[in-house]
Amino acid sequence: MKDFSIARRRMVEDQVVARGVRDTRVIDAMLQVPRHKFVEEALESQAYQDAPLPIGERQTISQPYMVAVMSEALALDGTEKVLEVGTGSGYQAAVLAVLADQVFSLERIPALARRARKALDSCGYSKVNIRLADGTLGWQEMAPFDAIVVTAGAPDVPRDYLDQLAVGGRLVIPVGDRMSQVLMRITRTSEHEFKEEQLLGCRFVPLVGNHGWRDERA
Ligand code: SAH
Repeated sequence: MKDFSIARRRMVEDQVVARGVRDTRVIDAMLQVPRHKFVEEALESQAYQDAPLPIGERQTISQPYMVAVMSEALALDGTEKVLEVGTGSGYQAAVLAVLADQVFSLERIPALARRARKALDSCGYSKVNIRLADGTLGWQEMAPFDAIVVTAGAPDVPRDYLDQLAVGGRLVIPVGDRMSQVLMRITRTSEHEFKEEQLLGCRFVPLVGNHGWRDERA
């Protein structure tokens, strides 16, 4: 069995710490989670590279730096209930499992949800709850959430995410067109008030669903 811990340490130093991520809990989580277990075996040796990678179904596992930035932006201390939209490989969900108390994750593509479930279980992250559903509606029964992270690009901020955010909660979401987006952080400062920040430019696969983009193949 190959030891990936050196590659993982280098990934965190060169791609995460060197680019300004400071949250030590995020840094520790990314040192822990075996990213190579969340890609297919043929891509294992590329798992710690500075890039997204294909995971099948025309979807990708996000670039490590993007996972770090989004995780840091959620400002988690370990007590939170978190919703992720776009389980994909399950890697971001695994990082969230280290950073937060409860993790709920929504995925619309059955094959990806199945594979993510397997990877998460085999790495000891069984506490992550995955549901197969259109994540643009959020997860009403489990709301409110202290943090919501959307790992696919949205045309606008779906109303349900704002409604399902606890007061004080943070929503991190890429908003823009199909090709490029701005990573936004929206904080619910009171029952009816939200603060908006633009964090950085990014490029995610489209959020497809009722309050997202239309599936072009449909
Ligand atoms: N967080 C993932 C990144 C996956 S890419 C990881 O760490 O690997 C984005 C994922 O969002 C894809 O798997 C895609 O199928 C999913 N997705 C897109 N629209 C969605 C929707 N409306 N609801 C749930 N998942 C969605």
